[in-house]
Amino acid sequence: MRKPKVVVLGAGYGGLITVTRLQKQIGANEAEITLVNKNDYHYETTWLHEASAGTLHHDRARYQIKNIIDSRVNFVKDTVVSIDKEAKKVVLKNGEIEYDYLVISLGAHPETFGIKGLKEYAFGITSIDSARQLREHIEYQFATYNTEEEKKDERLTIVVGGAGFTGIEFLGELGNRVPELCKEYDVDFNKVRIICVEAAPTALPGFDPELVDYAVNHLQKKGVEFKIGTAIKECIEDGIIVAKGDDTETIKAGTVVWAAGVRGNSVVEEAGFENMRGRVKVDEYLRVPGHDEVFIIGDCSLIINEEINRPYPPTAQIAMQQGETCAKNVAVAVRGSGEMEKFSFDNKGSVASLGENDAVGVVFGKKIVGTKASFMKKVIDNRALYMVGGPSLVLKKGKFKFL
Ligand SMILES: Cc1cc2nc3c(=O)[nH]c(=O)nc-3n(C[C@H](O)[C@H](O)[C@H](O)COP(=O)(O)OP(=O)(O)OC[C@H]3O[C@@H](n4cnc5c(N)ncnc54)[C@H](O)[C@@H]3O)c2cc1C
Repeated sequence: MRKPKVVVLGAGYGGLITVTRLQKQIGANEAEITLVNKNDYHYETTWLHEASAGTLHHDRARYQIKNIIDSRVNFVKDTVVSIDKEAKKVVLKNGEIEYDYLVISLGAHPETFGIKGLKEYAFGITSIDSARQLREHIEYQFATYNTEEEKKDERLTIVVGGAGFTGIEFLGELGNRVPELCKEYDVDFNKVRIICVEAAPTALPGFDPELVDYAVNHLQKKGVEFKIGTAIKECIEDGIIVAKGDDTETIKAGTVVWAAGVRGNSVVEEAGFENMRGRVKVDEYLRVPGHDEVFIIGDCSLIINEEINRPYPPTAQIAMQQGETCAKNVAVAVRGSGEMEKFSFDNKGSVASLGENDAVGVVFGKKIVGTKASFMKKVIDNRALYMVGGPSLVLKKGKFKFL
């Protein structure tokens, strides 16, 4: 008898949780499971700010997918080009795959809000490749500074666009990394500028104001300048143009990093599913309305927080919880019996790291800062590893330097 084909796209947080649960929940004779991912490794997206700043080697933030999945899962290392939802087929760079049930967990793409020059000149914090490139670029600027007869101080200016979670966490790492680079390349720390530009009226929009103050003060002490309520109007080859009210300013910078927003993977938009910035409003079982055979989770999905009637922000936490529910529901769909589980997000809180040994957050409704919060951040990071690969993955890749 022909077995139903289950295809999971993307081996990030959502995809790997789905597959590791499916391989336990579905018998070998019940379905064929295929996992497609661009690389043969998974990376911890939530650790990329560290790899990008150079405070953590990028190899620490990734592991081989084959060590996580069992022989029942057919792993295909390839890039998804498009999805033909009518023909129920996925087009890859090097072939095609048919499906009966599809799980889309392809993560996010940067949202540039149409700002001119960002795509061409700004760096992103999006993958191991981008992290490696950004780390090398910053180091190159420091290494080059003293080799030039006429010193170009702007080489030592790093602009971070966005004071949301990603921007703040990256600034925290820069706060640790820049003094090291100054020492290594004989550069005067006073010549370095780290500037954060945020269009919203506050850093960490939506976060507790007391914690925002703590984070901003901490980063200012490490030398970060904040330009809050200031919008990046354009990114140019050697810097940015910003505006606050009617005033515009050009800031020359050797490095511009865009960390101010994401949208769902463009593959989802191009597939023709109804979406808002690449995110599809899925039903309570995580399926695409009108396409019961397609499940979308993680950054490509949109779930409304009924309490405030606004979408939940895309996070690893929600992606992993969706992965659990998605696996259960795919198993029910494959069997054609049983009851699907309704997805409901259990928000355990969030912690933003501010570099080594400092952080701010709300966990189980309680505010925490400093070493306590930093400890909790590492516990959260280790928990994500545990959820996917159990204790052996935690021992291999976990964070154990708590102070
Ligand atoms: C620096 C940073 C810090 C963050 N910190 C936190 C945090 O502290 N807490 C939190 O909850 N969230 C945090 N987030 C957000 C979180 O990382 C994302 O919400 C989460 O990764 C989404 O999971 P996902 O499964 O949807 O996608 P991802 O985990 O991003 O995985 C997507 C996968 O799809 C693959 N892929 C993409 N396109 C293709 C293609 N065309 N073909 C094949 N494969 C493809 C990618 O290689 C990747 O493996 C942070 C994000 C960043 C960037």
